[in-house]
Amino acid sequence: MCGIIGYVGKSKAVPYLIRGLEHLEYRGYDSSGIAVTENGQVITVKTSGRIQDLKNKLTGIELTAKCGIGHTRWATHGEPDDINSHPHSSMSGLFTVVHNGIIENYLPVKKELMSEGFTFKSSTDTEVIANLLEKYYEGDVVHTINKCRRILEGSYALCIICRDFPDTVYGVRKGSPLHCAESSSGRLFSSDTIALLPYTKSIYTLDEGETAVMDSREISFFDTNSNRISKSADRLDLPERSADKGDFPHFMLKEIFEQPQVLKRTLDSLIKEDELFPELSELKKSFFALQKICFVGCGSAYHAGLAGKILTEKIGNITCTAETASEFRYGNTPLDSKTLCIFISQSGETADTLAALLKAKEKKARTLSVINVRGSSIAGESDFVIYTEAGPEIAVATTKAYTAQLISLYLFALCFAHERWQIKRSERDRLLSELRLLPAKVQRIIDSRDKAELFSSLFDGRREGWFIGRGSDYAAAMEGSLKIKEISYINTGAYPAGELKHGTISLLERGTPVVALCCEERLFTKTFANIREVKARGASVLILACEKSAEALTDEENVLFLPDTADEFACLLQAVALQLLSYYTAVKRGCDIDKPKNLAKSVTVE
Ligand code: GLU
Repeated sequence: MCGIIGYVGKSKAVPYLIRGLEHLEYRGYDSSGIAVTENGQVITVKTSGRIQDLKNKLTGIELTAKCGIGHTRWATHGEPDDINSHPHSSMSGLFTVVHNGIIENYLPVKKELMSEGFTFKSSTDTEVIANLLEKYYEGDVVHTINKCRRILEGSYALCIICRDFPDTVYGVRKGSPLHCAESSSGRLFSSDTIALLPYTKSIYTLDEGETAVMDSREISFFDTNSNRISKSADRLDLPERSADKGDFPHFMLKEIFEQPQVLKRTLDSLIKEDELFPELSELKKSFFALQKICFVGCGSAYHAGLAGKILTEKIGNITCTAETASEFRYGNTPLDSKTLCIFISQSGETADTLAALLKAKEKKARTLSVINVRGSSIAGESDFVIYTEAGPEIAVATTKAYTAQLISLYLFALCFAHERWQIKRSERDRLLSELRLLPAKVQRIIDSRDKAELFSSLFDGRREGWFIGRGSDYAAAMEGSLKIKEISYINTGAYPAGELKHGTISLLERGTPVVALCCEERLFTKTFANIREVKARGASVLILACEKSAEALTDEENVLFLPDTADEFACLLQAVALQLLSYYTAVKRGCDIDKPKNLAKSVTVE
């Protein structure tokens, strides 16, 4: 993942680099570092830990350099320690680089460089780039970059400084995003426009293989043959994505609380005067010709896709699949122009999802993406886009972006089923009215959060647990289980309730926490029987059910009741209750809720 930043300007570089890294910290936060050219020398300061640790390390070091690069890391190759932190310099210190991505052939390249006498300090893949640049350098950095580009396999966005050109930063990309911009404050590179928008709305996005060169006079662009090219900036009229916790102890709780507004805003933006998705009119014309819909995403976005698949299949009467992008991109799902592939990603930068999208396009499938961040790579590559209106999501564990994806996919299913004559207008309107009631029902769950807090004792002292459900309850179980894993580090599994007896139940021990989801009315008695089975074997069970099931559950001790809704939409209400359950579980365990270990917000490597 990682965030990279570069600065050249009239002011001191360090504050710009640090501010940029703070904006990019969501991309990784296991270590960070900067390198600046100070009086012809490259000075590097780096450390494991958060950006605050880097700031502490920089205290008392007077750096006046006006040119530099910075990095916030999510380690792929080599432990997140001080030595493996970026920037990395070549053997003699001639080149210094920061890198986002993975060099897939770094081992053979490293072996060859070592046989030629190059030495290495770190165990990263990145250090080969610095030494390779040094090996091929003959005085022209752009030429050298292009020579190395032909050797390096994998993905990268790089910012590079060369000791011979102390006021210049070079940027190049393949597979990983890189943007740059010019403003009265200076010139900057960044992995994400978020770090550039505070200075300008006019932003250059590097194309594959392009190199940008930034010095105290200008930014120039070069193609893969080192020929100078002209390039125009895109105007990104986006709000600054800054965020602050307000009075909330954590961003995650704040974002859970924002959901009623987010869901309402998302619905309002996708419905105009009773027409669903007016902006997708071209896509809607193709609905009759479609034979299959594939929902593709990673993590929670995949779970949203699973819920989308279940509903679209149910009311749209079309074959649907839900797949994780990392499998889909290398799999053999048959795709053609009669397939619609729906890609779901909060950031719109998820590397696996982007690769899956490019594969679908290659096979001539129609592509639609459900994205939260405007101007992102996946949105740019898709034939059609549905934007969710979640606003900036800062906590690593998604909450409001996930439920915004869910409500968008629910609405898509209604639209699809109605346009394809699978449901009547009256049924569409009935479901739409239910959908419009969800924000208020989410508010009720938030208002009674003390119950989720109380039931979080289910996981006290436990290292593992289960989530079970059938149908869309199973999709909710998957998301609930992931949420608790992400922020509480409890090893939970999600299982289709009917599957336990085929193997997993052998793991059940006295006291194993089991969260049983049974909101789907038509499946209630079936899941209820599975609850009896695990209880008979000593499980501690928490049931999540709709209020309409209260009578059937009078003998149950631990029930978290949710407002009634259509079976079709219960997954969303369960998600909110499970977010709160996970949150309070993590609070009790003293976990770092907004920045869980080993994770990053946007996954821009494979
Ligand atoms: N592969 C590099 C490292 O491990 C960069 C990682 C990344 O971009 O996620 O340091």
